[in-house]
Amino acid sequence: MLDFLLPLLLLLLPFSVWSGYRIGKKSLQGKSLGRRLAPGYFTGLNFLLNEQPDKAIDAFIELLQVDSETVETHLALGNLFRRRGEVDRAIRIHQNLIARPALTGDIRKLALLELAYDYMAAGLFDRAESLFKELVRDKSHRLVSLKQLVTIYQQIKDWQQAIDYSYQIEKISGQSQAVKIAHYHCEVAEDARTAGNLKVAHEALKTALLSNKTSVRASILQGQIFKQAGKSKEAINSFRRIRHQDIAFMPEVINDLISCYQLIGNEAELLKFLKQCLEQGAGVSVLLAVSQLLETSMDDKQAAIVIVNYLRENPSLKGLEHLIDLHVNHASESARDDLQLLHSLVIKLIDQKPVYRCDGCGYSGKTLFWQCPSCKDWGTIKPIQGIEGE
Ligand SMILES: [Zn+2]
Repeated sequence: MLDFLLPLLLLLLPFSVWSGYRIGKKSLQGKSLGRRLAPGYFTGLNFLLNEQPDKAIDAFIELLQVDSETVETHLALGNLFRRRGEVDRAIRIHQNLIARPALTGDIRKLALLELAYDYMAAGLFDRAESLFKELVRDKSHRLVSLKQLVTIYQQIKDWQQAIDYSYQIEKISGQSQAVKIAHYHCEVAEDARTAGNLKVAHEALKTALLSNKTSVRASILQGQIFKQAGKSKEAINSFRRIRHQDIAFMPEVINDLISCYQLIGNEAELLKFLKQCLEQGAGVSVLLAVSQLLETSMDDKQAAIVIVNYLRENPSLKGLEHLIDLHVNHASESARDDLQLLHSLVIKLIDQKPVYRCDGCGYSGKTLFWQCPSCKDWGTIKPIQGIEGE
């Protein structure tokens, strides 16, 4: 209860001082407003002290007669409640403000904007949507309202509306929304794929790549759909594109790429491609794939030399794990137990490490999210590079 009381009282303190000043000033003019305002103020305090915050709000709302001088107090009080997660109370205060006929146009719009934020916080997206659509017509609130509308359409997974409003943001702000728009098209493609509508999925992916030609997600999805349909050559073309889009994502498709090449029986071309990827810094997963492919033509010692040379330049736990594994079979009996212990320790260490990290906020985990669950940005989560990653 006290944590509710304190900020409210702090907020109302300047107002009560100001009211006192006004009362005093008007009293001098022969009219005692003290008798009119003070009872309401103390009634509100009484409700607060008796742990009846909603009745207290009613009393304070009544007390704070809305005019150009008190409207900021109303807005501040409403925002305070929203920030504290007490959205119902924020909504009541902002609705009360809007209901006042004396409110000027600009202040009314400000109150509408705050109310729309309240609805967002309460998850009442349909109400927030209609308010933001109204506010889009006003130049000073247009951009912020468009951005909120896109947030709503993302939440309710209405990707086409998210695309349309993102183009409007791009037009007004001059800031490219291409990365996000491509992700929305990928979302359309994933929905279509789940529904078995592969034609729509392919169209959406083509549009995604037109919006953002470096969309790794579109290439991965396109390759997977082709592979599933038994179109290995087309799948290979999609997967190979990732090398130029963002090489860090190559480990995501390495297994699919290898199986497609094996299906068309062209391992020579696969090896050539993977070596090119390695030269470009594709990461240890690609190296391990190459070493496995070469197992038929190399013995364990030769494979170990390849890995050691790579680890000197690019140290990583995954590479170390594979290297120990190669040595276990050739170690003496006493050394083998130690190596096996070391091997299991390294595996435990790898298991504890996250695989992906967001460039924007640092969120990390073992699942690849295209929209960061923490900062909500799109395409910022990538496979971790370096000693603990690729
Ligand atoms: Zn993030």
